[in-house]
Amino acid sequence: MTDCLFCKIAEGKIPSQKVYEDDEILAFRDINPQAKTHILVIPKQHIGSCAEINEQNSRLIAKIFEVIPKIAEKEGLSNGFRVISNAGPDACQSVHHIHFHVLGGQQMAEKMA
Ligand code: 5GP
Ligand code: ZN
Repeated sequence: MTDCLFCKIAEGKIPSQKVYEDDEILAFRDINPQAKTHILVIPKQHIGSCAEINEQNSRLIAKIFEVIPKIAEKEGLSNGFRVISNAGPDACQSVHHIHFHVLGGQQMAEKMA
C-alpha cells in the first residue's frame, strides 16, 4: 500500500529500531512505548487489521505467533508478556496495518478495557 506507515517501515523507507526481521515478518520498538518493553510485530505484507485475516493470509499470522516467543526470550520477558492487536475504531486502532503489540518488562494492569 502506497500510503501506509507500517508498509513504509517494512520497506525500510522509514527507519525503525528493529528487534527481529525475516523475509516476511518485522518487529520493531514502538515509538511511544506504553510499557518498559513495547515491541510491534507486523507482517511485511499489508493486512489492514485482525478483521482482514482469512484463509489466504493466516499463515503469516501463525508465523508471527511463532516469532513472538523468540522475541520475548531475546528481550528477557521470562516473567510474562501481553500481546494486543487493536482492530477498528472501538479498539482505537490508529495505524491501519495489522500489528501485534508485545508489552512486558514490568507488572501490568489487570484490566484490558
Ligand atoms: P494502534 O493504536 O494502531 O494499536 O498502535 C499503533 C502504534 O504504533 C502506537 O503504539 C504508536 O505509538 C506506534 N507508532 C505510530 N507511529 C510510529 C512510528 O513511526 N514508528 C514506530 N516505531 N511506532 C509508531
Ligand atoms: Zn501497510
